[in-house]
Amino acid sequence: MLITKPHAALLASPGMGHLIPIVELGKRLLTHHGFDVTIFVVTTDSFTTRSQILQQTSNVSSLNVVILPPVDVSGKLGPNPTLDVRILLTMAESLPLLRSAILSLKVVPTVLIIDLFGIFALHMARDLGMLSYVFITSNAWFTATTIYAPVIDKEMEDRHVNDHEPLFIPGCKPVQYEDTLEPFVLRGQPMYEGFISAGKDIISADGILMNTWHDLEPTTTKALRDTELLGWISKGPVYAVGPLVRTVTPRSGTEHGHRLKVEDVLRWLDEQPTESVIYVSFGSGGTLSAEQMTELAWALELSQQRFIWVVRPPNEGAEGTFFEVANGGDETPDYLPEEFLTRTHEVGLVVPMWAPQAEILAHPSTGGFITHCGWNSTLESISNGVPMIAWPLYAEQNMNAALLAEELGVAVRANGREGVMGREQILKLVRRIMGEKDGKAMREKVKELKRSAVKALSKVGSSYNSLCQVTKDLEIHLQEKSGGATL
Ligand code: UDP
Repeated sequence: MLITKPHAALLASPGMGHLIPIVELGKRLLTHHGFDVTIFVVTTDSFTTRSQILQQTSNVSSLNVVILPPVDVSGKLGPNPTLDVRILLTMAESLPLLRSAILSLKVVPTVLIIDLFGIFALHMARDLGMLSYVFITSNAWFTATTIYAPVIDKEMEDRHVNDHEPLFIPGCKPVQYEDTLEPFVLRGQPMYEGFISAGKDIISADGILMNTWHDLEPTTTKALRDTELLGWISKGPVYAVGPLVRTVTPRSGTEHGHRLKVEDVLRWLDEQPTESVIYVSFGSGGTLSAEQMTELAWALELSQQRFIWVVRPPNEGAEGTFFEVANGGDETPDYLPEEFLTRTHEVGLVVPMWAPQAEILAHPSTGGFITHCGWNSTLESISNGVPMIAWPLYAEQNMNAALLAEELGVAVRANGREGVMGREQILKLVRRIMGEKDGKAMREKVKELKRSAVKALSKVGSSYNSLCQVTKDLEIHLQEKSGGATL
């Protein structure tokens, strides 16, 4: 059979932070570049994932979504497994299911696009005669660090790890030790080995896509393509295709499955003055310690600033609700300072567990964001022109915070890693981004970036063109496969 258009199979690993950008990439390939698209979703809980996907894809009926049956890895995990280990094991155990699901399609897709946690599936894609692409759901600087890690000069790595000198990556902003990725801190441990091995797999892929755009990180995206800098490392080309973020249709009115409906939150925002509300959220799984939550609560109250705060039960681990977040939300939070809800009810809205973030950030009343700097949250904030307080918790979030504050000038940095941040310190940061002096400058810069994001995705933009190039690459592959027949 002569296949005339590319069919992309995308693999999403567990967690909303992975699912959201994969679905957005799928939508874009389908609606703007004429692909057939099938999204395979690995989940730990198919019921909530299903409802969240339905919500996210409701406006694209021809998107084929296959939710793989959940696998139970609990018996195979050692004591206190890290989040990465749990996700990677779940992905590995789901591979046979993915293979049968792909083989049950009428025709094997042209390409398998995976995120970082789906790295084991690269080999399977090749076995099945598919091209393999990696979609890094983060920025170019993180991509550069990850693909450079396997080829790093050992002496330089020693200086970074042992003497805490910056890590120099050709053509990129150096990574300060305080911002470095966890695997470097844990050199010699399984996380480091896994990171290096993932780096090697990524560079063997037929292409790498990143959720960023050229004008946001011009030097780094250029370095990744320049053969004298980093371009020699990866087998396939590296494309910046973002920002791929969930866009909101005004007043879509969907329920998000918890106590407060989207409509309730938006109605509350409607009643607030323009850019007066600070939104506080630590991503899909981020949690704070009890002491830190108390300090944050007091800071919000003392600031007298209007706020929306997504609260989760306190947890000593920074990613305490990564798998569970979608399941909670109906309870009244009893872990906030006594009478906090009563004292702040006129200026604040507390949302347990999960809020309609894309809608909140897109609302004109939102004027600031306290964020853990997950890359999706970061892109959503920039795409809506909202300045940030960068409060990183885990993964590559320290690097993201450095990029936002030092390079782009659209955030002020909190130093949440150094123990508990006091209320006075948080209060100062809130005043800085919501106030006139620093706030105004950051607001202008972030709005400039917002315009540049819109341009990148437009038909004359760099990210649109990158995906056109990917389409061409795949069409050439199809042509070669069909023995050179004209498509
Ligand atoms: N999110 C949301 N409501 C919440 C918390 C998170 O809609 O209450 C979404 C958020 O909009 C983003 C994603 O979940 O798209 C979180 O991804 P991110 O990369 O920011 O962080 P992660 O959760 O992966 O650490």
